[in-house]
Amino acid sequence: MDFVTRPEQKIPAREYDVVVAGAGTGGVFAARAAARGGAKTVLIERKGYVGGIAVEGGCGLHSFFNLWKPFNVEKRMVVRGIPEEFIQRLYQAGGCSGHNDTIMRPEYDGDTLCVDVEQYKFVALEMLREAGVQVLLNTWAVDVVKEGQRIAGIIAESHQGCEAVLGKVFIDATGYGDVSARAGAKYSEPNDYPVVNSMGVGGVDIDRYYAFLRDRGVLFEYGLGPRSGRTSQIIRVDGAWEKLDPALGKAVKDLGMSAVTTTIHDNYFMFIKINFKMAVSPSNRDALADAEFELRRRQRAALDIIRQTIPGAANAFIARTAPSITIRRARCVECDYDISLDEILNGAHYPDEVFSYGFHDSAPRLQIKGGKTYGLPYRTMLVKGLDNLFAIGMMITSDHEAHMSTRNTVSCMAMGQASGTAAALCVKQGLGGIRDLPYVKLYDALKLGNVWFDAELPYKAVLGGI
Ligand SMILES: Cc1cc2nc3c(=O)[nH]c(=O)nc-3n(C[C@H](O)[C@H](O)[C@H](O)COP(=O)(O)OP(=O)(O)OC[C@H]3O[C@@H](n4cnc5c(N)ncnc54)[C@H](O)[C@@H]3O)c2cc1C
Repeated sequence: MDFVTRPEQKIPAREYDVVVAGAGTGGVFAARAAARGGAKTVLIERKGYVGGIAVEGGCGLHSFFNLWKPFNVEKRMVVRGIPEEFIQRLYQAGGCSGHNDTIMRPEYDGDTLCVDVEQYKFVALEMLREAGVQVLLNTWAVDVVKEGQRIAGIIAESHQGCEAVLGKVFIDATGYGDVSARAGAKYSEPNDYPVVNSMGVGGVDIDRYYAFLRDRGVLFEYGLGPRSGRTSQIIRVDGAWEKLDPALGKAVKDLGMSAVTTTIHDNYFMFIKINFKMAVSPSNRDALADAEFELRRRQRAALDIIRQTIPGAANAFIARTAPSITIRRARCVECDYDISLDEILNGAHYPDEVFSYGFHDSAPRLQIKGGKTYGLPYRTMLVKGLDNLFAIGMMITSDHEAHMSTRNTVSCMAMGQASGTAAALCVKQGLGGIRDLPYVKLYDALKLGNVWFDAELPYKAVLGGI
């Protein structure tokens, strides 16, 4: 490979208190929380909209609740605060199903929360603008300016050119860990998941899809909720296609096509996921380009199968695809603490926890015991070796099985509120680093922000058992 040397360049600089990179699932809530905490906040997003994988990849937002059904315990909404405020607002706008129970597979989730991805993008952006967050869309965070162990600024590129976005506290919410990597943080690239391009499919009938799977005895999960203005409609369906017939099962498996779908509209499947396992980590640009092509090829083949197999889908069409591949993880950034599977399954709580969470994506094989919750410690979001950088979302938690809990959307949203609240407090108090923040101050601010602590342990532990 040849190299060139870039000449030194004088570029314009803007100054903020809190700089959030990545306006995805977690970043939106980080920026909103930081602005609400009184910090002058900027949010840098490479695409032309906000929402990230919550609007590109998934099926339902997992999960605001503990796993109450299999353990026959009280149903508790354990994630609240800004994420729940947003869901209520999205619901009012007709952009989600609200919270509904899943049926037939209670050991897995319990809550079916389906979103309209386009409404999500708009309502989230509206919420950020109202909060006074400066949202830099179509702007890449490409590098950092460092002063010792501190980040002084992010170098951002847009059609307008290159500029420095200076700040006091930084939050890496890029999913890929781009800011952490550029800042010299240690990271690994486990490459332990397939990458995905999910498509929205029009010209289909979810009632007929449900009946088809049910009548053949391969339906294993569905959810009821509002759809196109009527209540108690089918809004989520999942089934075992591989049991329909071996050849079809093989074709679907070879395409990495998932049978689960959700919707809140008639004649539309909001997500059909197509998976592809790359040979290398998705941070590899050239391999990613090949994967983008392969997934679009698979989407066309999957559409043919849908047309031929699902009753009423003969004229189905691809109505939407993700603008680029979605990942379940790329870099895993080293932070001060790395929560383990054992702690998650046993419902551990900590003296510095920032929210409670009760969902694991591998249920029923792995569940948080007794329908309990665990707490996410503040330390898990502090990038090792850097004084003023948080990492949030899918890029924390190294163990694959533990990550299968912390990476879920609602957990990422809650990390957003926690990191944004902490960042604003650090600025307000003029602290030298994010490790200097007294936990009690953060706890009080999170409580004020309506964050739910499922175990009252933290406050008491810090104050010596008062
Ligand atoms: C296909 C798929 C299906 C899933 N299904 C579910 C599900 O059903 N339920 C569930 O709860 N979870 C699901 N998950 C997991 C969950 O959606 C993700 O783990 C979570 O959304 C990740 O959030 P995040 O904030 O870390 O990243 P993201 O939501 O990806 O946000 C990162 C943002 O940063 C931006 N960005 C990246 N690099 C830069 C840069 N250098 N400069 C500026 N901006 C940048 C991106 O454009 C993006 O907007 C799924 C994941 C995938 C991939």
